[in-house]
Amino acid sequence: MTDDRRMSDEEWRRRLTPEQYRVLREGGTERAFTGKYDTNKQAGEYHCAACGQTLFESRDKYDSGSGWPSFTAPAHGESVATRRDTGHGMVRTEVLCASCESHLGHVFPDGPGPDGLRYCINSAALDFEPEDKPA
Ligand code: FE
Repeated sequence: MTDDRRMSDEEWRRRLTPEQYRVLREGGTERAFTGKYDTNKQAGEYHCAACGQTLFESRDKYDSGSGWPSFTAPAHGESVATRRDTGHGMVRTEVLCASCESHLGHVFPDGPGPDGLRYCINSAALDFEPEDKPA
């Protein structure tokens, strides 16, 4: 397996669509209600669109009404990393893929689960793999 963190900018551009690159590598945000997974209710796993590791699971997805895929928790404790983001005049907590350090979205303390977290994630950062994938 390649070390995704060592991928050059040129390689990322080659591997990703322009929208994926803008979100994952430049910290961009897709417009609300435009992402392909916002309303997806299928059972399955959400993988990092950049490196493929499992990030979120459908059992933790809920409809937050925000216009972005929302999860109460990552798939595993080690799936994502966070860091303080003071951009755009706000103090937010950025969510990154723990494996390739690509930008995924932000996490807010207003979620419905026991941890009270809302992982607000760009569809462009995700690749969905349905549970009952046709053979
Ligand atoms: Fe990744």
